[in-house]
Amino acid sequence: MSFAAHFAIFVAWTIYHIRSMERWISRGAHRSDAPNGSGIWQHMVQLLYRSQRSHKARKRQLANLANYYHAVMRALPDATVVINSNLEIEWANKASQKLLGIKPNKDVGHRIDNIVRIPEVVALFDEAAKLKRIQVDSPIDSDITLAISRQEYDDGNYLIIAQDISHRVATQKLRKAFIANASHELRTPLTVISGYLEILQDEEMIAPDVAQIINNAYEQAIRMDNILDDLLILSKLEEAHTSKNAGKTVDVKKIIEQVVAEFKVSKSQEGHTFNVTADDTKLLVIKGELISICQNLIGNAVKYSCVGTTISIDWSINDDGHGCLSVSDQGKGIPDEHLARLTERFYRVEPHGVKGTGLGLSIVKHILDNHDGYLDISSEVGIGSSFKAVFPAYRLK
Ligand code: ADP
Repeated sequence: MSFAAHFAIFVAWTIYHIRSMERWISRGAHRSDAPNGSGIWQHMVQLLYRSQRSHKARKRQLANLANYYHAVMRALPDATVVINSNLEIEWANKASQKLLGIKPNKDVGHRIDNIVRIPEVVALFDEAAKLKRIQVDSPIDSDITLAISRQEYDDGNYLIIAQDISHRVATQKLRKAFIANASHELRTPLTVISGYLEILQDEEMIAPDVAQIINNAYEQAIRMDNILDDLLILSKLEEAHTSKNAGKTVDVKKIIEQVVAEFKVSKSQEGHTFNVTADDTKLLVIKGELISICQNLIGNAVKYSCVGTTISIDWSINDDGHGCLSVSDQGKGIPDEHLARLTERFYRVEPHGVKGTGLGLSIVKHILDNHDGYLDISSEVGIGSSFKAVFPAYRLK
């Protein structure tokens, strides 16, 4: 046989195997109907079959995993909604229907702001507002309070999680009401006790050691009175819902000067130098509350720094365009680990140190929260502390 004939047979044999392989693969490459062959063809069939089998196993594994996570997400008690960059709902779990009114099957593909018509929820997607967490009543049941948070992922897609916090809110309300009532009820008996102690203090017949005891008791009664005052202020602040245009346009410089003048004539401060710098920017604020901020921050600077040091008070617009009232002292400073906790109720760095209620900074924080502002604290041990009450730009006039 000639070379050409051999070559023709080889080509025909190769084409036959390629065609059988192609048919086998297109039928799903099952072991039962694998093409017969030997040598390299047999080896190729085995390799293909093995790779096909591991591919299928992996696919099954991934599908199981996806089903598992789907089932977990569906069963979550918190409403979980996936939203794309056009704000269209891509996926929602069962709880979304109960808490937000989003039907997992029907509402997919609709914009979330067409389904959940709550302005605060819509504002969550306003990039300029930078809101990430809100507290609102559920659109389905106004007895349910929701904490809704927005998490961005994959550039412009969002995960929305709404949690039912009704129980927590109810407990908080109960606690606030209890504190307000208890403070109110303690007021009258305390006034009577401190009144009697004051009378006894002036009594000449009393022995000096007993007089000292009465003196101490009177001081503690006054301290308790101050604590009740502060607790009642805090309860009122917690109840207050200060709207964006609440308050009056106030001359901050004048208020600072007024508060500083009061401190200068008071006995509690002797020997401090006050350095006031303030521009003429006015502030839309509840005047009594601005005075309270100044009294608390300047009062603390006086309490926690030594005679002969300088207290600097400044009112100006900061680099972000916000109004900043800063009070800096040259006191002994506060160690870092305490800074984050200073605005908690009753938190004091040295509980038995200088007299105080531990509520002043809590009051300042609440007032600033109500005005959409915040308190920025920085301190260096041995150098001094700086407390900045920052007000949003929209309140500057
Ligand atoms: P207090 O009535 O105890 O002063 P505050 O709430 O005003 O309560 O302050 C909480 C704590 O923060 C204080 O007890 C004190 O330890 C610390 N603190 C506040 N202001 C200053 C300051 N200017 N320098 C050092 N420590 C301060």
